[in-house]
Amino acid sequence: MLRNYKAVGRVLYGRNAFAQLDDIFEPLRVDAGSYVLFLLDEYFEGKDLVKRIPMKNGDLIRFMDVTDEPKTKVVDALVEEVMNEKGMAPVSVVGIGGGSVMDYAKATRLMFTNPGSSARYQGLDLIKNKGVHCTVVPTISGTGAEVSMTTVLTGPEKKLGIKGDFTPADQVVLDPDLISSVPDPQHFYTAMDCYIHNVEALNGNRKTVMGASLGRESLQLCQEIFLSGNSRTPENDEKLMVASYLGGLSLTYSEVGACHAISYGLATVTGIHHGIGNCIVFNQLDEFYPEEVKEFRKMMEINKVDLPKGVLKDYSSEDIEKMVDVALTLTFMWAHVAGPEWEKVITREKLRDLYMKM
Ligand code: NAD
Ligand code: ZN
Repeated sequence: MLRNYKAVGRVLYGRNAFAQLDDIFEPLRVDAGSYVLFLLDEYFEGKDLVKRIPMKNGDLIRFMDVTDEPKTKVVDALVEEVMNEKGMAPVSVVGIGGGSVMDYAKATRLMFTNPGSSARYQGLDLIKNKGVHCTVVPTISGTGAEVSMTTVLTGPEKKLGIKGDFTPADQVVLDPDLISSVPDPQHFYTAMDCYIHNVEALNGNRKTVMGASLGRESLQLCQEIFLSGNSRTPENDEKLMVASYLGGLSLTYSEVGACHAISYGLATVTGIHHGIGNCIVFNQLDEFYPEEVKEFRKMMEINKVDLPKGVLKDYSSEDIEKMVDVALTLTFMWAHVAGPEWEKVITREKLRDLYMKM
C-alpha cells in the first residue's frame, strides 16, 4: 500500500519573511482570549529578534533550553503549565529555533488535544486527534524538521519520533537572514545532517524517483555551499535553507540509512547531539558511502572543521553493546541500506568495530 502523505501546509519563503509573521496569526485570533504560544531557542533571549515578534495581548513566550535534545517530560510540563495559566489551548504554537525548538513546537501543539503524556505517542500513527495550528521558523538549517512528518523526542524509555499525518507543521516561515548568527562549527554540523539525509535517501532500496529528485537537488546545493571556500555568505544561507527543506522532503519519499541508525545508538547512550553525532559516524562509513565520505572529508578540510576524536574512549564495552542494540532495532533503515536479508551483512561485530573507531 502507498501512503497518502500529508505535507506541510503553507510556506512563506524569502528574505525578511519574518516581518510578515503577524499576517499568519491575525485570521486565527477569532475568539476573545485567543492567544499565540511562541517557543524560542534560548539563544534569542535578550536579542533583537524578540522585539520583532508580533506579540499581542495575552500571547505567551517561552525560551526553550536546548542543552539536551527535546524530552517528552518538558513537553508535558509545558502543556500543563500553559493550560493552568490560560485554561484554553493557544490558536498557534510557534517554534522559532533549530530542530530542537521546531520539534518542541510540533510536539506541544499535539498535546493540547491528545490526553496523557507525549511518551504514549512515540511511534507511527499513534496520535488520534488533530493538534492546534503550528508554525515553525528555522533559525539554523539542516535537519529538515521544518517540513518532516516527525517530531523526535526522548522519553523515559526511548528516543523515537511521534510520526504521522498530524505531525507536520501547518505553516513554515523560511527567512534566510535568521541563520546568519549560527556559530561555527554548529552551522556545519547541522548542515551536514542535510547532506547525510540526501546521501542516505539517494542510496538504498527505498529510494524513489520523487525522493531522489529532491535529494539530488538538495545535495547539489550542499556541494555548492561547502566546496565554495566561503560557506558563510547570505547567498549560501539561502541555499542552505532551501537545501534543508528539500532534503527533509526527500526523506518522506525514501529513508535514512546507516549513519542515522548508528548515530541513534550513539545518541541514546552518550547524549551526543544529532548534527555532530552524524558527522562523527559518517566519517567512519567509507564501506557504505565511499565517494560521499571522501567528499565530506574534503568539505571538513575546506571549512576547517576538526571533528572530535576518541569520543567513546571512556565508555565501557556494555555501553558499546547498548549502542549496537539500539542501532539494530532500526530494522527499516537497515532494510533500506542492505535489503531484506540485511541481518547477514549488518552484524554486531561490524557495528561494534565502527563504534570503537569513533
Ligand atoms: P538545535 O536546534 O539543537 O540547535 C543547535 C544550537 O544552535 C543550539 O545551541 C541553539 O541555541 C543554536 N542556535 C539555533 N539558531 C541559532 C541562531 N540563529 N544563532 C545562533 N545560535 C543558534 O540543532 P539542530 O541541529 O537544528 O537540531 C537538532 C535536533 O533536531 C535534534 O533534537 C534532532 O533529534 C532533531 N531532528 C529532527 C528531525 C525531524 O524531522 N523532526 C530531523 C533531524 C533532526
Ligand atoms: Zn538527521
